[in-house]
Amino acid sequence: MTNPDIHNCPICAEPFKPDDICASDITEGTCHAACLEGSPVVDLETGEETGGTVDTYPYSDVMEPPPPETNTTGWEDEFNALSPEEQGKIRHCADTFGVPLIAAYHRAKDLDVIEASPSPQTRTLGGGE
Ligand SMILES: [Zn+2]
Repeated sequence: MTNPDIHNCPICAEPFKPDDICASDITEGTCHAACLEGSPVVDLETGEETGGTVDTYPYSDVMEPPPPETNTTGWEDEFNALSPEEQGKIRHCADTFGVPLIAAYHRAKDLDVIEASPSPQTRTLGGGE
């Protein structure tokens, strides 16, 4: 199984980690800076040796940005679609544990303590407490 999102260093074949220090090899592409140590430093444009120091960067600079872990939009609509009792429970949890409402909501969803609401449009929201 090869994950196309994980790139291996072409020299040591280790998968890159976001905080690995990397450098670009003119033939191999991105490699660990440490793996390129001792190689002549060449200008990536011209291929000529520069004799200078190689440009290094953390691998996180070139990796694909990871998808956001938590969907932080849209949850309020789902929350508002819950029954007042369920909203109350989640608010109570947030207060009790001192966490943001969104965290309490996601936790409640993970734990399945709130029932799925198949038709969130059927409730009328009063707007008041
Ligand atoms: Zn390497």
